[in-house]
Amino acid sequence: MKDKKKGAGEIPIGGMITEAGSSAKFKTGSWKAQRPIIDESKCINCLICVHYCPEDCIMTKDGKRGEIDLEYCKGCGICANQCPVKCIKMVPENEFENGK
Ligand code: SF4
Ligand code: SF4
Repeated sequence: MKDKKKGAGEIPIGGMITEAGSSAKFKTGSWKAQRPIIDESKCINCLICVHYCPEDCIMTKDGKRGEIDLEYCKGCGICANQCPVKCIKMVPENEFENGK
């Protein structure tokens, strides 16, 4: 016998955030197929990558760009695309898995 389907009034509204601060629980880093690697010698600390990162995982320290929190970086490549001096390179994750 099939389960009775829920009615419109019983299912949650899509896209609704029911708990403040819950995004910290979802480690989107496991999604990534590529990892951003920054050439520190070319970075001009413009912070554009920080503002464009949809996961807010590029840290800042003392007004300068800091490390990327890879537990939340989903490898979208927006930072690399937006960097004005092109000092972020997206590297396939399997290169790290193979110990390269
Ligand atoms: S690849 Fe995407 S999620 Fe990762 S640091 Fe860059 S903009 Fe953020
Ligand atoms: S966008 Fe590029 S140059 Fe600007 S802070 Fe980020 S890595 Fe550095």
